[in-house]
Amino acid sequence: MLPESEINRVLVVTAHPDDADFGSAGSVALFVDRGVEVTYLLVTDGDAGGNERELDNSGMAELRRTEQLAAAKAVGVTDVRFLGRSDGQVVPSLDLRRSIARVIRQVRPDLVITHHPDRNYQFIAPSHPDHRAVGGATLDAVYPDARNPYAFPELIKDEGLEAWTVREVWLTGGSTPNHFVDITEAVDRKLAALRSHVSQVAHVDGFADFVKSRFAAWAKQAGFGDDRYAEGFQVVPTA
Ligand SMILES: [Zn+2]
Repeated sequence: MLPESEINRVLVVTAHPDDADFGSAGSVALFVDRGVEVTYLLVTDGDAGGNERELDNSGMAELRRTEQLAAAKAVGVTDVRFLGRSDGQVVPSLDLRRSIARVIRQVRPDLVITHHPDRNYQFIAPSHPDHRAVGGATLDAVYPDARNPYAFPELIKDEGLEAWTVREVWLTGGSTPNHFVDITEAVDRKLAALRSHVSQVAHVDGFADFVKSRFAAWAKQAGFGDDRYAEGFQVVPTA
């Protein structure tokens, strides 16, 4: 694994508003505490989510962008970018790979965090088709697109974006996590980030308890003990 001291920039690529907050906001808060620069890239605006059906889809997109900006701020992230694709219709196309490779070359991250591209047969929720599409396209953008100067040559020619090699990827939502981060110190900030998604979580009874019990279970699995919280990832070396 990459030593902590060699992680100076992190890019988190997710499908929808709130995905980053469920998957990795605790770890992100700890990165920010250490002075790491973190960028969020959201492929959709989550315009097919929420309970406020009186909003049309464009109203929902706008609301969910605003909620995501607040959630990012709760863990110290201010660089939040949106690709504006349609919620529920994401496919791992060449065009999406180009868009993600562009941001990788702009941000030049040491570490990328994204969705696991495979279906989780133990727990279906993380395997939304948009998540799998974004995870697959992001891994393809990491290898080979972003590092290969001959992939999408217009990125160099028209935008001056030189090739960049991401050295490690952490995948969320998979069935075989092999790296756990103790986020106990940051669990209140993670909860604040999640609660920023008012349109998604305000109606959920016992939301804080639900979140805490889920991440306490990861901590137990990791052997961190009682009254601890953890996020789990599958680490993929990509250097
Ligand atoms: Zn999602």
